[in-house]
Amino acid sequence: MDIQSIRQDFPILNQQVNGHKLVYLDNAATSQKPTSVIQTMVDYYEKYNSNVHRGVHTLGTLATDRYEEAREKIRRFINAKSEKEIIYTTGTTQSLNLIAYGYGMANLHKGDEIVITPMEHHANLIPWQQVAKKTGAILRYFPMESDGTLDLEKVRATITDQTKIVSVTEVSNVLGTVNPVKAIAKIAHDHGAIMVVDGAQSTPHMSVDVQDLDADFFAFSGHKMLGPTGIGVLYGKQMLLENMEPVETGGEMIDEVGFQSATWAELPWKLEAGTPHIAGAIGLGAAIDYLESIGMDDIQQYEEQLSEKAYEVLSNMDGVTVYGPGKRSGLVSFNIDGVHPHDVSTALDSEGIAVRAGHHCAQPLMSCLRCESTVRASFYFYNSEDEIEALARGIKETKEFFG
Ligand code: PLP
Repeated sequence: MDIQSIRQDFPILNQQVNGHKLVYLDNAATSQKPTSVIQTMVDYYEKYNSNVHRGVHTLGTLATDRYEEAREKIRRFINAKSEKEIIYTTGTTQSLNLIAYGYGMANLHKGDEIVITPMEHHANLIPWQQVAKKTGAILRYFPMESDGTLDLEKVRATITDQTKIVSVTEVSNVLGTVNPVKAIAKIAHDHGAIMVVDGAQSTPHMSVDVQDLDADFFAFSGHKMLGPTGIGVLYGKQMLLENMEPVETGGEMIDEVGFQSATWAELPWKLEAGTPHIAGAIGLGAAIDYLESIGMDDIQQYEEQLSEKAYEVLSNMDGVTVYGPGKRSGLVSFNIDGVHPHDVSTALDSEGIAVRAGHHCAQPLMSCLRCESTVRASFYFYNSEDEIEALARGIKETKEFFG
């Protein structure tokens, strides 16, 4: 990986913040965008801005073609069987809500069980709480080991014939844990349950094959993988999507409309009501082109190297607690004894280092870690080993300052 040349593609990285070279380590919140993605979106607005699936005029046809080509790129990127299985959403949150309300509400009954993990992002937790309340289903949790991993034997013991939905994040946004979602899907299916995977933190960093995982539903966001905000994907097996009633109705998703009732368009449009984020979808297509030009396996390998280095340096510092397992995806959450995470983040920001402090939308997990918040440094393939060293220096100085 030629990091210096890759960094040239990300204009935002080439700046000073608070008098220091920017070190952007908040990629789990959102990634930066390469020029090719920005330019692709500018081209849409400057050259062929039009609504899709409506006008037969030239610009409308061009916009529709580009929008649907992006869907095909996404299909290939996650190895879905058909473009009908790729539903554009606003992001992981909307995708998971669509599953909970579109599938969960229709299929769960009193006493049925939904099983998730204690490390879920609120987006893969609150929709299930809500749907459980409305249907009388029970929300259960897989036990989590003290290092923030799941034990497959305990997973097996938790899933029963009452289990109807298992929903698990592939990568934890706080711990960096990579969960064995393929093995969990197999256990879920053996009991007749469906498997939902939150891919928000995995899709940007490793190759995803939804058929190999045998996921029934898979959700991710464009903005964490070089794409714009406001666009994401809900993947679902065609049969499940065919049987799902739309949660949102209106324009674009209909076949015929009468005064009293309406029929729906085919997939995927049945589940995409209203004018979509056209520039966003096309921009996400350009993001996938960029990621593929580097290669997802190389990205994963390089980021593991970065996080291994960060984990080793930070966990060897006195007075620093690092959360999560040794083997992890590209992020490190930590706390410095006696220093509030917001103070750590502010001190690092004064050195130009952008990290995130807070509960990371995972409040139940914070109670398992016995803290209210953590500092999180999260990496992408444009980060360098020098930046990990800058982070380590910043932490050392922060410790000294507050010590
Ligand atoms: N799930 C995980 C694991 C996440 O890290 C995030 C975002 O941080 C989400 C879901 C929600 O993603 P979005 O806010 O893009 O909908």
